[in-house]
Amino acid sequence: MTELRFNPLSGRWVTVAGERMSRPSDFVPRRLPVEAEPNRPCPFCPGHEEDTPPALESYGPKGGWQVRVVPNLYPAFAGAGSLVATDHGPLHRSAPARGIHEVLVLSPHHRLSWADLSDAQAGLVMAAIRDRIEDHAHHAGLEYTQVILNHGREAGASIEHPHGQLLGIPFVPGELDDELGHCARFATDNGGEGLLQAVVREEQERGERVVVDDGRIVALCPYWSGSPYELLIVPKRPVAHLDRAAPADLAACGRVLRDVLSRLRALLGDIAYNLVFHTAPHRADPEFCWHVHVLPKTTTAAGFEQGTGVRINVVPPERAAQQLLDIAD
Ligand SMILES: [Zn+2]
Ligand SMILES: [Zn+2]
Repeated sequence: MTELRFNPLSGRWVTVAGERMSRPSDFVPRRLPVEAEPNRPCPFCPGHEEDTPPALESYGPKGGWQVRVVPNLYPAFAGAGSLVATDHGPLHRSAPARGIHEVLVLSPHHRLSWADLSDAQAGLVMAAIRDRIEDHAHHAGLEYTQVILNHGREAGASIEHPHGQLLGIPFVPGELDDELGHCARFATDNGGEGLLQAVVREEQERGERVVVDDGRIVALCPYWSGSPYELLIVPKRPVAHLDRAAPADLAACGRVLRDVLSRLRALLGDIAYNLVFHTAPHRADPEFCWHVHVLPKTTTAAGFEQGTGVRINVVPPERAAQQLLDIAD
């Protein structure tokens, strides 16, 4: 049984997932290569479709698939309905962790990552993300959909086959709530200009931290980067909801992600990373623009960083951007 519990000290929800603990891979030492059960065939490879629940979506030619979306066998969020919190006294607030937890298989190829996808495949992956977010938006009770991709064990991946995850959840999480608040305040203070659009404009003028600008999508190392080689992927035309973005912008986002991930790999080797897709909450219309965070796992957040939320970044983003630019195409 997965349960939400409210942390009154931080003001944020946590998920306590007892059943997920039984996953064989959960406490495997993080230095081992990713492969949950080496003796079991990969459930995401073609020919093993019966090892996963039936696909929710399948993309590609008939008789084969290029991208698949399947329910997660070990969902952190499951069941229909909205957030219903119960107070067990003044400190203990809980709620059933209702929602949707899906797996997005990026490609039929076991050893390829997003850094290897063709233009067409990267576009298909982004189209699948858009379609699933759009679907989640129609589920009453779901407030927000978090799309993530974990690459490498240090980043939390337990199966090597390249895949992302979509989590439709019954509340707006603290991290996104903070971003929404900052974007609203920035627009109010700056004549209505969106925060991320101001970032793109400013960084294009300065030219120090932009890594890719393909006309539709910009990838840059943010001025405020808290960790080495962190990147922000932003569309030039602001749209709050990722699932309402122009198809050409989504396709461009898939290509630009491929380009920066392949540059990161050329520079640093096959390091672990997380991709975090931020989009506006369902059925809300905030001052916001969808975007993607690329967070390479080059360092571990130590005590000071965990205690304060203040990151110590040993690679200035100007240098990171220059190094990524210097990688030949
Ligand atoms: Zn596989
Ligand atoms: Zn964000």
